[in-house]
Amino acid sequence: MSGLRFKAVETAVSRLNRVDTHETTKPSLFFGKNVFTTAKMKEYLPKNAYEELVDTVDTGKPITLDLAEHISQAMKSWAISNGVTHYTHWFQPLTGATAEKHDAFFEPLPDGSAIDKFTASALVQQEPDASSFPSGGIRNTFEARGYTGWDPSSPAFIYETGGSKTLCIPTIFVSYTGEALDYKAPLLKAINALDKAAVDVANFFDKSITKVTASLGIEQEYFLVDLALFNARPDLQLTGRTLFGHMSAKGQQLEDHYFGAIPERVLAFMVDIEQEALKLGIPLKTRHNEVAPSQFECAPMFEEINLAIDHNQLLLNLMEQVALRHKFKVLIHEKPYADINGSGKHNNWSMITNTGVNLLSPGKTPKNNLMFLTFFTNVIKAVHDHADLMRASIASAGNDHRLGANEAPPAIISIFLGSQLNAVLDEVETARVAKKVKNEALLWHGIPKIPQLTLDNTDRNRTSPFAFTGNKFEFRAVGSASNSASPMTVLSAIVANQLIDFKAEVDKQIKKGTKKDLALLNVVRKYIKESKAIRFEGNGYSQEWEEEAHKRGLSNIKTTPKALDVYINEKSIAMFEKLAIFSHRESEARHDILLENYFKKIQIEARVIGEIVTSIIAPAAFTYQNTLITNIKGLKDLGLAGDAYGSQANLVERISNHINTILVDAEAMRQERKKANVLEDTREKAIAYDEKVKPYFDKIRYHLNKLEQIVDDRQWPLPKLRELLFVR
Ligand code: ADP
Ligand code: MG
Repeated sequence: MSGLRFKAVETAVSRLNRVDTHETTKPSLFFGKNVFTTAKMKEYLPKNAYEELVDTVDTGKPITLDLAEHISQAMKSWAISNGVTHYTHWFQPLTGATAEKHDAFFEPLPDGSAIDKFTASALVQQEPDASSFPSGGIRNTFEARGYTGWDPSSPAFIYETGGSKTLCIPTIFVSYTGEALDYKAPLLKAINALDKAAVDVANFFDKSITKVTASLGIEQEYFLVDLALFNARPDLQLTGRTLFGHMSAKGQQLEDHYFGAIPERVLAFMVDIEQEALKLGIPLKTRHNEVAPSQFECAPMFEEINLAIDHNQLLLNLMEQVALRHKFKVLIHEKPYADINGSGKHNNWSMITNTGVNLLSPGKTPKNNLMFLTFFTNVIKAVHDHADLMRASIASAGNDHRLGANEAPPAIISIFLGSQLNAVLDEVETARVAKKVKNEALLWHGIPKIPQLTLDNTDRNRTSPFAFTGNKFEFRAVGSASNSASPMTVLSAIVANQLIDFKAEVDKQIKKGTKKDLALLNVVRKYIKESKAIRFEGNGYSQEWEEEAHKRGLSNIKTTPKALDVYINEKSIAMFEKLAIFSHRESEARHDILLENYFKKIQIEARVIGEIVTSIIAPAAFTYQNTLITNIKGLKDLGLAGDAYGSQANLVERISNHINTILVDAEAMRQERKKANVLEDTREKAIAYDEKVKPYFDKIRYHLNKLEQIVDDRQWPLPKLRELLFVR
């Protein structure tokens, strides 16, 4: 096995040749080349069909079968003219990965000839076997059938892989009885709820606002590792993270990697991924090194939330595929290495009106400022009231290693506003606003002047899970491997819910005779007071913050199985039902699926640890130990005194102690696994895995890392962290 390690290192080191697969034309010429864009629809559709489609997408009306027929023919012509042979519905089941099932256009005819066929019904609906996707009990009581349904708000695209081109149609995935089995269906409902609620509130200020679109810019962090080294580490292969490994003497302490020069082999990969992404209409703009060695980030220009999420999911697939060309493996896991930074997926979020106004951007006039303050404080209040739901929306086995660890935002949800806006809110809260305003102009004395913030003068706080950055909120606690639809569904839902309450409160005051602007200001001030506890400007990683947060009554739920509880409490269920995002049953089902996903991940890791310990590490340690024993015997035979081999004997003993402890712990962990496996209740099982099985991971890791430092380097079977992190 150590042979494999050195072969892998040698292979990795020898990869001097970069792969050049780049387009030589400028990006604007191939951007969106593989997307059935509005421009292409216009070209391929009859004029009236095109107009009908634009209207339907704008208004959210259902698409008629007639129109679908036109669109399917247009899509087919475009796809076939681009060499496409198959089509698939492309969806996002709760497995976390995207799913597809390809069908050929080609269809044989009775006379022995064949045609290319793609019907409206094939576009609108497909029926994949739902039984192999997680359903949280929904499918047990009904038929196993599930349907994918076309999402016309996200354009179809051509995905090229393995020399084959497939037309991919973004879809939702629901059960036979209509319950959501995916991430996208609830997201679309939440976006819709937010749009309605935000328009209603925006109309207090501007009647011409008829649509509010949530925008999302996703920063994606990831690690790269050489493919040969990756393949020589079973833990990376099977779990996406290293389950042990002594941290190399050089980690990130010199802070020389962040924004440093990008290594050439990595840059070649980045250029390649950017070009592939641009062809698929993913507007990738930014690339840089991240803090940890071999850690990088890319970010697209922000887009409408549903599209941004589809693009992020597509990007993850693309990265995996393109990395292989460069003999890299992309690690999307939140914590591939224990002692250095983990990876996040920062979700930059704002709300933009059809009139082009960003509702989270401070305005130039007092009236616009009141509109800004209204939306700003409503978001803060929503996060304050539903902090636990925000926490649950980013809970996963992978993110548990990150939240609260090393550099990561803590598991406590708080909001960072920056000193200027904090001062503004304090001023609004304490300003004396006249109860009865005779002179309209006087009212505005209650509203401080809000400086227009430029990105340069907003404070940055890298330790905050939810930070305001000039004209958007940045949800930084989202894990790199998660589907952003989960946090974005929750954020859209709680803000929609909050805006509905806000409007009701303002309307009530207006009805009682309070002037509109004063009523708005009154409720804003009330919200500022009520949501103060969630605002925090200091260092979120400090021990003092944990204590302070505890005093403030903020929760700090560190592990997934318990963080998920909030999904099924009365308050959440009622809110999701009211907004028609999740039915009671869907909430329960989702909760169950997430728990199942959690314990399965820990279960796999435990198994992998068990295997590596007994079949890879222990034998290597024994071999080295035997070398030492033989050596000691030889020294004894020569008649040398005990001093001559005392330290070697000590090494032999230390190896024995470590190996022994490891094997004992591995067996004890196996017993705990067996106990957990027989538990019927999914939540109990997940908690047992978390509290009884997982604690062994660190114990075993400790002794394995000690062994790694003792055993002859030439006999150590698995690539070391310094090799994984620094060979590139
Ligand atoms: P950072 O300094 O945190 O890296 P950037 O300004 O580079 O922030 O933006 C990060 C992401 O935020 C990008 O994807 C960008 O397109 C997105 N973004 C910028 N403005 C907005 C906005 N108003 N709404 C949503 N996302 C935005
Ligand atoms: Mg950022």
